[in-house]
Formats: sequence, structure tokens, C-alpha cells
Amino acid sequence: MLDSGTFLRWMAAMAAAVDRDADLLTELDSAIGDADHGANLRRGFTAVAAALEEEPPRAPGAVLVLAGRRLISTVGGASGPLYGTLLRSAGKALGDEPEVAPARLAEALDAGVAAVARLGGARAGDKTMLDALQPAVAALGQDRPDAVAAAARAAAEGAAATGPMRARKGRASYLGERSVGHRDPGATSAALLFAALADATGE
Ligand code: ADP
Ligand code: MG
Ligand code: MG
Repeated sequence: MLDSGTFLRWMAAMAAAVDRDADLLTELDSAIGDADHGANLRRGFTAVAAALEEEPPRAPGAVLVLAGRRLISTVGGASGPLYGTLLRSAGKALGDEPEVAPARLAEALDAGVAAVARLGGARAGDKTMLDALQPAVAALGQDRPDAVAAAARAAAEGAAATGPMRARKGRASYLGERSVGHRDPGATSAALLFAALADATGE
């Protein structure tokens, strides 16, 4: 079972991962976007970590709602509202349950992913963060003891699979065919999010 401590560690691990890999994310975004994805997420998750440290919520859902709100209020780029919506919607779905099983988290994240798809209008194969988020959430929902590790793997594979895709949403879509051959920055950061979850649960 995952409690609020696990969720706090998850967000702290994500902040550390984004800080560590900010240059890589920005490099990916410089190929098919505007070279700010690393800076956007670093600003966002640094603010998330600070807010959670200042006043740690007592329930998993509240951790995600606070994180999502912070991302929306601190990140100017598309990724802020999108990740913010993902976490806030998932947090709302968890309500005030004190502990959640991975499969329950998968259900909540599924609602978050649906909200991201509504907000951004993207679908699987459009070369966005959804291409890592969707397979990760599907793997997390499977009834297996290593579901979190499987989700992290699925997210990494989903991010790698965006390389040959042609972007149909976001800035990268302006490049059309020229977006092919570059990994999507948002799918790459989504893989970091699930690697951070695995870190937090010790898988
Ligand atoms: P911006 O494009 O505003 O500079 P970022 O560089 O921070 O924002 O984030 C870009 C990432 O956001 C993309 O790599 C993609 O994964 C994701 N993204 C952009 N638009 C959409 C959308 N409509 N739906 C889902 N994800 C999107
Ligand atoms: Mg950008
Ligand atoms: Mg930008």
C-alpha cells in the first residue's frame, strides 16, 4: 500500500530527476520545440517540492492535488497545465483515502490521463506525453507484484517509441515531417515521473 509518505517521496524524487535531467529535456525540446521543457519542469517541480515540504498533506490525494495546482500556477508552457491537470485530477479521484494500492492509483491516474487528453485534444500516437503516460498507467493497473516497476518500464518504452512518430499536437506539430526522428520531450519527462514512483516505492 502507498501512503502519503510514499507520495511525498514520489514528488521529491521527480523534482530531483527533473533537476538532474533538465539539460536533456531542454535539448530534446530544442530539436522539435522551443528549448524550454527542462526549465519549465524544473521551475514547476522545484515549487512543488517546496510547497509539499512546507505543509505536507496527510493523504495521497491531497499530495497530488497540491502538486498539480503548483504546476499550473508556476509553469507557463503547455506542460504545466497538462501535468498539473494529470496530478490534480488523479488526486481528486483518490479523495481522502489514507492508503492506496497501486491498482487504485492506476485508476486515479487513468482519470488524470483522460483529463489531459480532453485538455490537449491529443490521442495515442500523436507524439506527446500521452504516449508514455497511457502505457505506464495500463501497466500499473495490472494485478502483479511488480506493477510499479512494470509501469516505469512501459513509460520508458513509450517515450522511446515517440522517436519515429510524426507530431500532431503541440509545438512539434508545426514541424510536420521534420519532427520525425526526435524523441518527444514530454514523453521523456513522463518516463521520469514513473521512474520516480518506482524510486519512491523502492521497486
Ligand atoms: P511548450 O511547448 O509550451 O514550450 P513544454 O516545452 O514545457 O511546453 O512541453 C512540451 C511537451 O508538452 C511536449 O513534448 C508534449 O509532450 C506536451 N504537449 C504539448 N502539447 C500537448 C497536447 N496538446 N497534449 C498532450 N501533450 C502535449
Ligand atoms: Mg517547450
Ligand atoms: Mg515554451
